Amino acid sequence: KKILLAMVLGIVTGMLLNGVVNEGTLWLGKAAADLFNTYLVDGLFDVVGKIFVASLKLMVVPLVLVSLVCGACSLSEGSRMGVLAGKTIGLYLLTTGIAIALALTLAILVAPGSGMETVAAGTFEGKEAPPLKQVIVDIVPTNPFKAMVEGNMLQVIVFALLMGFAIPRCGEAGKRIAAFFYDMDAVVMKMVGFLIELAPYGVFALLAKIFATLPFDTFLNLMAYMATLAGALLLHGLGVYSALLKLFSGLNPLQLLKKMRPAQMFAFSTASSGATIPVTLATVERRLGVDNSVASFTVPLGATINMDGTAIMQGVATAFIAQAYGIDIGLQGYLMVVLTATLASIGTAAVPGVGLIMLTMVLQQVGLPVEGIALIIGVDRILDMLRTSVNITGDAVVSCIVAKSEGRLEEAVFNDTNYDAPTS
Ligand code: ASP
Repeated sequence: KKILLAMVLGIVTGMLLNGVVNEGTLWLGKAAADLFNTYLVDGLFDVVGKIFVASLKLMVVPLVLVSLVCGACSLSEGSRMGVLAGKTIGLYLLTTGIAIALALTLAILVAPGSGMETVAAGTFEGKEAPPLKQVIVDIVPTNPFKAMVEGNMLQVIVFALLMGFAIPRCGEAGKRIAAFFYDMDAVVMKMVGFLIELAPYGVFALLAKIFATLPFDTFLNLMAYMATLAGALLLHGLGVYSALLKLFSGLNPLQLLKKMRPAQMFAFSTASSGATIPVTLATVERRLGVDNSVASFTVPLGATINMDGTAIMQGVATAFIAQAYGIDIGLQGYLMVVLTATLASIGTAAVPGVGLIMLTMVLQQVGLPVEGIALIIGVDRILDMLRTSVNITGDAVVSCIVAKSEGRLEEAVFNDTNYDAPTS
């Protein structure tokens, strides 16, 4: 509740400040705008917001490493690791495929880009997307410490899985090491709990700053694009996930959606599924009842490779740009978009705005002008916040489905109706 209140207050404060500091409005004049900008928007709010995101990120590597070693230990005793990985990756690909197909269908039906004025579009420098081959080779770290220093999640996951697989096979030594990791896990989770307590302040500062600097004037021109994208995100985040959860596991989707709300708020304000990992993991384990042996694998992996919201943005954006430039890419083109956007969302780093960079790859693949991105870049930040919330909800849904099918979901916890239960 406190986080929700902080969110609302942050958005309202930001919008009020927007009128004060925005070149277009300047309600209190130029001098006041400079003052507010220097001390509040770029000062206090920026500092508090950045410290908050940094403190979340600070927990990601230790949490994923420790938690996944523990998870892999208990899993590999029952040698279910391969099955679990197969199910998880399969479901992640399936949900992303559905997401992008839904996005394209909606964008083609609504046609938000037809009749758009493209002449005024600025320029956008496309970045080279990493080749798929390299992405695959890079999954295996050459140096686990380098992987941790750089926060390369896939590499940390590979190292932790290997270690967790080895520990139960090492007799007495393994027992001692396992005990150490289980103890560390409790400590690291406690640290995450402290940070969650501080969240309202961080969320307030982040949102106040973002809403103070959003270019609301460009929103009007892009209303149709924003509405189509938001519609597709909502449909997927509420409808598709509910249907999948019910279909595959018989669990009550409303429970999941209600319990995920705080984590979604974190994702919304940070626009980074990576920084949200500690909160997603705590929520999935403690409020949704997913066993650590499943969640410690599915959540960090999902944050890295499962980005349904990002795929939806890429689908809608591609159709929008094609319509705006009056280019018909045909059915084959759209099928190509499904494939590349799925791959792109796997390769997208879990930080703000990267989805837009990966869009370059999708556009190039189907021969659309990369400069088209300039059309939508102005409104991307707010849509990034929305799609990140969808990204992490998808991770939680798949975690529950996999856990249920493996008999590793505590239904009493999942069905508990105390929605204010602490995540720590
Ligand atoms: N911000 C997104 C995330 O971290 C990635 C993106 O779509 O830009 O999940």
